[in-house]
Amino acid sequence: MAYVYDDQNIFAKILRGEIPNNTVLETDHCLAFRDINAQAPEHILVIPKGPYVCFDHFANVASEAEILDFTRAIAKVTDALKVEPGEGASGYRLIANSGKDGMQEVPHLHVHVVAGRPLGRMLS
Ligand code: 5GP
Repeated sequence: MAYVYDDQNIFAKILRGEIPNNTVLETDHCLAFRDINAQAPEHILVIPKGPYVCFDHFANVASEAEILDFTRAIAKVTDALKVEPGEGASGYRLIANSGKDGMQEVPHLHVHVVAGRPLGRMLS
C-alpha cells in the first residue's frame, strides 16, 4: 500500500504552528489538542508529529518509539481528563476514522478521545 501524505492538511499546519490550537499535551512524537467542533464535553485529538495519513499507515511504518509514544500520549490524555474507568470514573471512547468509508476528514492520523457524557451506541 502506497500512502501519499498531503502536507497542506490542517493538522500539518497546526504542527508547523501556522494555525493556532488549544494544546492539552505535547510529547516527543505527539501533540494532543482540543477539537474545534467538540462533540462532547471532552473532545481531544491526539496526533503523531510524523507524516502519517491514517492508523494503518502509522502502524506499518512508524518507529517503535513513535508508536509507544502515541499510545502513551493517549493514556496521558485520559489520565489528565480523569475519565479512566475504574474507581467510579466515567470512561471514554477512542475513534480513529480512516479513509472514505471511515469518513476521515483530515488526512493526518488522529485519535479522537471523547468523554464527559454518555456516548450512546458506537454506530447508528
Ligand atoms: P475526522 O472526521 O477526520 O476523524 O475528524 C477531524 C476532526 O478535526 C473533526 O472533529 C474536526 O472538528 C476537527 N478539526 C478540523 N479542523 C480543525 C482545526 O483547525 N482545529 C481543530 N482543533 N480541530 C479541527
